[in-house]
Amino acid sequence: HPPTMPAALRAVAREHPERPAVVDGETSLSFAELHEAVRAAARGYLALGLRPGDRVCVWAPNSWRWVVAGLAATYAGGVLVPVNTRYRGEEVADVVARSRARVCVVADGFLGRSQVAELRAALPGLDEQAAVVVVGDGEAPPSTTAYDDLAGLGAQVTDADLDARVAGVGPDDVADILFTSGTTGRSKGVLTAHRQTLLAAERWTSTCRVTAEDRYLVISPFFHSYGYKVGIVSSLLTGCALHPVAAFDTERVLAMIERERLTICPGAPTIFHSLLESPSFPTTDTSSLRLANMGSASIPPRLIERMLDELSFELVVPAYGMTECVVATMCRPGDPDEVIGTTNGRVVDGVEMRVVDPQSGAALGPGEVGEIQLRGEMVMLGYLDDPEATAEAVEPDGWLHTGDLGTVDADGNMRITDRLKDMYICGGFNVYPAEVEAVLARLDGVVEAAVVGVPDERMGEVGAAYVVARAGHDLTPDDVEAFLRERLANFKVPRHVELVDELPRNASLKVLKAELRARTTTKDD
Ligand code: ATP
Ligand code: MG
Repeated sequence: HPPTMPAALRAVAREHPERPAVVDGETSLSFAELHEAVRAAARGYLALGLRPGDRVCVWAPNSWRWVVAGLAATYAGGVLVPVNTRYRGEEVADVVARSRARVCVVADGFLGRSQVAELRAALPGLDEQAAVVVVGDGEAPPSTTAYDDLAGLGAQVTDADLDARVAGVGPDDVADILFTSGTTGRSKGVLTAHRQTLLAAERWTSTCRVTAEDRYLVISPFFHSYGYKVGIVSSLLTGCALHPVAAFDTERVLAMIERERLTICPGAPTIFHSLLESPSFPTTDTSSLRLANMGSASIPPRLIERMLDELSFELVVPAYGMTECVVATMCRPGDPDEVIGTTNGRVVDGVEMRVVDPQSGAALGPGEVGEIQLRGEMVMLGYLDDPEATAEAVEPDGWLHTGDLGTVDADGNMRITDRLKDMYICGGFNVYPAEVEAVLARLDGVVEAAVVGVPDERMGEVGAAYVVARAGHDLTPDDVEAFLRERLANFKVPRHVELVDELPRNASLKVLKAELRARTTTKDD
């Protein structure tokens, strides 16, 4: 793979100038046009004073402009810092302040909620220079730059100036800072070098044989590593067309799949579940779908079956990774069915994996449950401005604590048991909520369920289950308990069962267990 992000863009524009790079509604850019648009935006950044290593925040829904603005940040020798689109006011100001951005690219629809002044206030010392670039069709508010004026602004920057800047970008320079999902605590910014971002995309695209003929549907938000690295960067590397989705609306997405004959889609399991449950699913032709890459939460085997049989994917590729190491394990085309249904596959080239007893730190053997640890050239450079958290996460000899529990069998197939932080101990026995949730998912009338451990005087901790029932189903907590009692050891059966309308989720669609735990604990007090 090319050594840097600008080299990757140049290479694909040279190899596939006429092929569509981004198709977004009425707008379609070829790779040559994308390259030109990125160069124009990069010139604009230089005109705004972006120096090598300066950060560029992009806070906007998925769109072709996001792709251009984001790639231009790395092209101009800056560092891309995507911002969560669910964030509001202070949360955005916090990320912008932590990243000390020189340029903030913001969707105009977001400005009402977090004013320009608030963004500027988040950049003390920089408030005069930091530029707010507004993406949208309306007029840009005072003291901001309209996105479409960036190119004009950059006209004063010559080709030679820009090329000199690009020539200074090296493979070990920081290319992006993506934030973790904040499932277990405050989101952490993860520093990644150009070569690492490209390597992650290369591993995924080569393992799954993504080609320039593919049409790539990206529903995952671009601010997450799944949307950016497995989405944008991967399509860039292979020369295939990226079809971004701004807001996940199942009917619109299904219509898009049919109309544009899309072939590949990465995503969290709930995305595919929603597509299957959509009212327009039975009448949609999804036969163009070829390959799904699934990760970011545990993958129900039954969902894989339905994706193959009903959504007509030819191949479903379960994978495991995290912001700190985007592609760690993957099933591979050709792996036996039982592997694909029950494991997350084997480590990709360039990543080492071991299983360690979380208490003693001793390495464990095949089949034993312990913390999954990873090492290799793909593991992050560190967390943004947080040497303590970095030291806690990465051992001096390079092993990354993933915070996930799992097993590896004798063939190297990895299977996630649960998060270390979610496991709880009931009367001296370890309970993995993911196991209980998987059983609950088989109960008729259950849409989804989450189990958490909560303090209990007698048992130390006991389980609390939150269950979402299918509309019109008169499921009761007693039914749920009886079902579990027949199938699980007593200590695994949650003591509290509550039916709820929905589970609290973050933007990566992960269940916020801390919120559920707090709910249960406050209620008991
Ligand atoms: P934070 O680190 O802020 O608490 P997070 O860990 O959810 O949030 P991400 O980096 O987006 O942030 O997610 C990585 C995590 O997602 C992994 O550590 C793991 O817990 C979970 N995950 C990823 N892939 C899988 C998978 N295939 N099966 C089960 N869990 C997965
Ligand atoms: Mg994490």
